[in-house]
Formats: sequence, structure tokens, C-alpha cells
Amino acid sequence: MSSDNQTAKEKQGKTDIAITRQVTDTAREALKQIVGRNLLPWPDIYSAEFWQIAHKSGYDEILLQQHANMDSTNKLAEEFLDKADEILDGVQDTVNMFVSGAREHTETMASSIENIRKMPVEDPEFERELDTLLSSNIELLSHSSEVEDKLAKQTVIINELQSQLRIDPLTGLLNRGALSKDLKKEIARSRRYKYPVSIFMADIDHFKNVNDVYGHLVGDSIIKITAKLIQDSVRESDSIYRYGGEEFLGILPHINCDQAEKFAERMREKIAKYLFVDKNNDISISLTISAGVTDLHEQDDETSIIARVDKALYLAKQSGRNRISRLDFS
Ligand code: GH3
Ligand code: MG
Ligand code: MG
Repeated sequence: MSSDNQTAKEKQGKTDIAITRQVTDTAREALKQIVGRNLLPWPDIYSAEFWQIAHKSGYDEILLQQHANMDSTNKLAEEFLDKADEILDGVQDTVNMFVSGAREHTETMASSIENIRKMPVEDPEFERELDTLLSSNIELLSHSSEVEDKLAKQTVIINELQSQLRIDPLTGLLNRGALSKDLKKEIARSRRYKYPVSIFMADIDHFKNVNDVYGHLVGDSIIKITAKLIQDSVRESDSIYRYGGEEFLGILPHINCDQAEKFAERMREKIAKYLFVDKNNDISISLTISAGVTDLHEQDDETSIIARVDKALYLAKQSGRNRISRLDFS
């Protein structure tokens, strides 16, 4: 072998070692992210080695976190679901990076190792190391596919849990938890794209009487029907929330206060005309709602706009019920 050839081979060897390090670093970083976020247990593929590397690389905070997590599983589950959107985005990016990086590097490494094999190296230790590297390489590739599959399955579960957490079981409307998040987002969107947003808050009049006279089951079924009447009278882009017992809140994007007032008036009339019928119990009931309406102003945040619409609803109740009150910003 010429000395030029020898130098080229040495250079190739160094490149291969650099690539190997890069693969391990990419894998380690990806795993650190995934495991650190409790999306996957420590992967078997690295078991003992990975624990050592974790210790050596100063990943003690993850190890500590693992123990803390075991002590407070419920709290973690809540926090996890709360941050699921953000986490999923991050993890998906990480896994994609990990998988594509791992594929690319394993392929490059496999061919480089084959080349090194062809070199007349009489060192069984070195040969063994090459074999280990090659088989780790294959394992890494198959593990990366598993990680992808697992993440896809977990994404579906988390998305389902997230949507369940947003739904009110009685009416099927969005719940109050969803409201605070959605309203915050809607306010930000409307400011960014400069469009108006109005909200209404509606409450069934004298609902206690319904419960007292006909019982809670009939009361429940009236809440359900009212929710449907409200939901059916809005556009697809509007969102309706069950704010409390028989209180509903609607977010109406791209609608100013005048339009919202007209819309709420139509909704009020529709419900006032509706006859709630329970054939089994020979019951037919007419009910009314009162509602407050307001629109978003520059100084508002989600708390102040809700406080104002609540005040508008209170005014509607005070001034006789079965009516809409509007409160502009002042
Ligand atoms: P107002 O006209 O002032 O709104 O009078 P109201 O009787 O409707 O009074 P308020 O809104 O304060 O009370 C609502 C009542 O609704 C109180 C509670 O008994 C009843 N309620 C709250 N949640 C539910 C529920 O999920 N199911 C049933 N059946 N009743 C509920
Ligand atoms: Mg009421
Ligand atoms: Mg009420």
C-alpha cells in the first residue's frame, strides 16, 4: 500500500469515527428529549450503556426527574395533557430529526464500515468493534422505526384525551376549560389579523323553577335542548361553550357588537318560541333566556371581556329577563 493510500485510509477512518459520534450524539439528544418528556421509557437498545452515558453526560436532571415523576403520576398526567400540544410538536420534530438523521447516518456508516473491512487490518479487537458497530447500527435503525410507530399511536391517544377534556358531557358543547384557552387564542388571532370579535353570555330564565317543579332529569334534558338550539343558530366558525349550569357563552369571530346583538336577539326569539316537550311525562314547557353581548376592545384580555359580558347579562336580568343587553367598552 502506498503512503498516499495509507493517508487516505486513515482520513476515511477518522471520518467514520466522526460519523459514528454524530450518530450517537443525534440519537442521544433525541432520546434525551423523548425520555426527558416521559413519552417513552428508557429504550432497551441502550439499557446499561445508555444509563452510563446518561450519567457521564451529565443528564442527571432527567434521572432525578424520572424518580420525582413516579411519586406524582397523577399530577404529571394533568400537566402532561395541559402541555400536550406543545410537547407533541417538539417531540414530532425531534423524532423526525432523529429518524431521518439515524437513517442517513446508518446508511453512510454501513458502507464506510464495509470499506474499512476491506483494509488488511490484522486486529481481531478492531474487527469485533466493527461488528458491534454494524449491529448497533442495524438496531438503531429498527429502533427508530419503533419510536416513530409508538409516537404516532401516542399522538392519537393524546389527541383523543385532549378533545375529551374539552367537552361538556351533558350537552356535548365545549366546556369552560376549553373556553379560557380558546378565547385567549381568538383574541391574539383577531389582533394579529385585525378583525372584530364579539361574545355573548346567555342564561335560562327562572331555571330553578323547572328543577323544582319537574325535577333535575327534565332540567337536564332542557339544558341539552337549549344547547342544541344555540349551537344550531350559530355559524361553523363560532364556538359555543357551556359556561355553567344553564349558562352558555359564544365566541363570534368577525362579528361586531351590532351584528352580535342582532344575532343574540334571533337566538332569544327562537328559544322563546320553542316548546320543550316530554311526551313520557306529559310535559310541555316554554322558556326564555336572557343574554349579554359585548365586543373585544384594545385594552381587553380574556378576563376583562368575560367580566363585561357577565355584567351585560346581569343588566338583562335586572331589566326584566327575556331580553338582550349590550355593554360597550367604557
Ligand atoms: P335567573 O332567571 O336569575 O337566571 O334564575 P334561575 O332560577 O335560572 O337562577 P340561576 O341561573 O342562578 O340558577 C340556575 C339553576 O340551575 C341552579 C341549579 O339548580 C340549576 N342547575 C345548574 N346546573 C344544572 C344542571 O346541570 N342540571 C340541572 N337540572 N339543573 C342545573
Ligand atoms: Mg338562570
Ligand atoms: Mg345561571
